[in-house]
Amino acid sequence: MQDGLGPNAEVLRLVLSKIADGALPSVRVEKVWAGYGTGHRCYGCDQPIDRTEIETEIDLAGALLLRLHRRCFAMWQRELETRENVAARDLK
Ligand SMILES: [Zn+2]
Repeated sequence: MQDGLGPNAEVLRLVLSKIADGALPSVRVEKVWAGYGTGHRCYGCDQPIDRTEIETEIDLAGALLLRLHRRCFAMWQRELETRENVAARDLK
């Protein structure tokens, strides 16, 4: 299974800019649904999520449904985790 749509750095840059402008909320997500894609646009990289790829669905307080590739979801959450760790370290 292909799990890449291009250079990771490019996708990461998109994910970072979306966190910056609020398109991707700065929220650590614990509950997700995963399944095969249905052609919806990924909130991370803006590419359609193909039927052969794993799609991660995030329901934020029932108000907003985000769909991301598993890889894009991981990048987004990893970035927030890194920021939390940096913030925690700065408090000490
Ligand atoms: Zn994506």
